Amino acid sequence: MSFVNRLFSAINSGTKHLFKRRFTLRYPDQKFILEGEGYQYDPKNGVGIAGYRGRHILYLERCTGCSLCFMMCKGISLAIEMINLPDKQISVNKKSNFPQIDYSKCVYCGFCVDACPFRALFETNDYEVVSYDRESLLFTPEQLAVPPKKPKGTHDLKYGSRGAYHA
Ligand code: SF4
Ligand code: SF4
Repeated sequence: MSFVNRLFSAINSGTKHLFKRRFTLRYPDQKFILEGEGYQYDPKNGVGIAGYRGRHILYLERCTGCSLCFMMCKGISLAIEMINLPDKQISVNKKSNFPQIDYSKCVYCGFCVDACPFRALFETNDYEVVSYDRESLLFTPEQLAVPPKKPKGTHDLKYGSRGAYHA
């Protein structure tokens, strides 16, 4: 390809993008709102419910302490550890054992969610699990039980004939 052809090809390629809607956001001042509730699994029907695989949510009142999530993660990243919370009196969990997750190891694969037979562990839309130190990335069962807050300054992602964009 000659120099002139390459020049016109580059100008042509750049010009096409002038008429597209902006897709980038000025993160962290602007943030996306992700659709849905996050990744879930329906053990009754054996199907995953599509969604973003972010920070988990643990429904303490449904957790039996069976450790299946822990055993599943053991072969992946050892991010889950079962810990004992004697002050948590939950009728279905006689030994009061619950999972905690170390997000410095978690790869967000969702296999622990698939392994839970009691719909006690799902993933959420929270994509901001960040910290300056590793200790803060260790989420106790009580921390996992708190639903994530909707980030401020959020933007809806829209889908048009020219692809995804935001207002
Ligand atoms: S999502 Fe994280 S905690 Fe769950 S199995 Fe995968 S690596 Fe382990
Ligand atoms: S979260 Fe689910 S799989 Fe993990 S210990 Fe609790 S009930 Fe068992």
